[in-house]
Order: sequence, then C-alpha cells, then structure tokens
Amino acid sequence: MKGTIIKALSGFYYVDTGEEIYACRARGIFKNQGIKPYVGDEVDMEVTHEQDKEGFITAINERKNSFIRPPIANVQQFAVIASAARPDPNTDIIDKFLANAEKAGTEIVICINKTDIDKKGNTEWLKSIYSDIYRVFIVSGKTGEGLEELKSVLAGKRTAFAGASGVGKSTILNGLHPDAPAETGSVSEKTKRGRHTTRHVELFRLDNGGEIYDTPGFTSFETTDATEEELQHLFPEISRFAGKCRFDNCRHIAEPECAVRQALDRGDISISRYESYLSQLEEIKERNSY
Ligand code: ZN
Repeated sequence: MKGTIIKALSGFYYVDTGEEIYACRARGIFKNQGIKPYVGDEVDMEVTHEQDKEGFITAINERKNSFIRPPIANVQQFAVIASAARPDPNTDIIDKFLANAEKAGTEIVICINKTDIDKKGNTEWLKSIYSDIYRVFIVSGKTGEGLEELKSVLAGKRTAFAGASGVGKSTILNGLHPDAPAETGSVSEKTKRGRHTTRHVELFRLDNGGEIYDTPGFTSFETTDATEEELQHLFPEISRFAGKCRFDNCRHIAEPECAVRQALDRGDISISRYESYLSQLEEIKERNSY
C-alpha cells in the first residue's frame, strides 16, 4: 500500500493512505542505511494489524527535497514570514531562508506579519525590497487580516513556514488551521495537556486541498550549501543580470563591466539583497577553504 507520512511522533510514523491512517514503525533496514522517514515522505507500507491500524514502512520514495531540522520532505512551497516590528525585520535571515528555498526548488511567498504595530515604515521597506521578486502578503496572525488571501496560494500545495523566532509563525499557522499548535508559547505549553504538549512534526490539511507542515524549527537556516557559482542563481534578480557581465566567472564583487553592479547602481537590484548575496558568498568561500 502507498501513503504519505503526515505525522512523526515517538517513533511512530502516521501514514495516510487516502482512506485510513496507519501508525507505522520503520523497517530496521532504514536505520542500517542511516535513513529516517520524514513527514511529507511518500512511502510503501505493509499493514500488520488492520484492526489497530498498524503497519510497517517498507520503502521511502525518492524525495524532491528534504530538510534535517525540522525533518520534513517534499516541500512544494515555502512561506517565509517576516515581522514588520517586534522584532524588526532581519533581511540577513530572510535572505538565507529565501536562498535555501530556491536551492530546494520550491515556490516561495513572503508574509509580512505584525504590520499593525509597525511605526517605522518597515512594511513599506520590506515591500520595496521583495515585491518585485516574490509574492508578498500582508498578514496579521492576531487579527486574521490577509489570511484568506494567503490561503488561496496554499491551495493544492504543500507549504512549510519559515521565520525567525518572534515573527509570529504559530499565530499565523493557528489562524490557517485551528488544530495547528506549532510552537506553543510558554503559557499554553503549561496549560495544554495531551497531544499538543509534545513538539512534533505534522502535516495539516486545509479545506482547499492545501497542506501545511506544522513544525517547530525553521527559525534559522544555515547558509545554503550551494557553490559560489550557484549562489547568484538563488537570487532571481541577480541571476537575471549575471549572464551579461564581461567575465563568465564574474562574482559581481568588484570586477569590471559587471552587469549586476550596474543594475545595483540603477536601483534594479536592492542594496540589502546585494549585501546578503555578498555575505552569503563570503560564508561559502570560508566554508570551502577548510
Ligand atoms: Zn558581474
């Protein structure tokens, strides 16, 4: 039988076959191979107890992408959450999320949360940086503003949410799906008992066919494991100009007749994005020098 892992908890993988949900163990062979089933995996399974809805995972289908922290697979879309205030937006972190999502080959949307308490114009600033590159949604996890619009781009896709701590990821997830506990705050952590107290990964179905990964984690990403050459293509607006530089191996730092720097001077590439590109490039260089 085939199914999708929709939840991983205490050594069990809950496999949804479309008809039933089975609590499955993973065959020992995975452990020997160093493979762990992830939420989002498409798997083959064998039923061991039909009545108790128990089984074994016998094979994991090839993944389109996967992440270790949190352990999820087959992400189709990333929603990167930025907060307009408290905390102020951190474009370094946002751009790391974005580069990783580009590397994983997913679709990308950006949600700006907490615009209601933005006194510094951060909302407009973020929009000026990102709205030409990605779809940007203004949402409020608190009031529910913009969530219906956001929901429409989640339809029929599997979306993971990423955002630095404090940006309000769990309120947005809760607004989209009332059962989604996400990272429960300290208060609810203490008061809620039972299934919501354990930090685990789960895939929630929305009524429009969309699915959202409810996970702790994704509060930080390492710099992408892309090569120096690849990195420029993980910034779509830089990639657009990269082929027009004088030198084929231009890294757009200080080379002559660099089309990327010319675009930067014209304002076609934002300074903030360009700086993120440079700092990620630096980190990749450092990593490679070991
Ligand atoms: Zn260049």
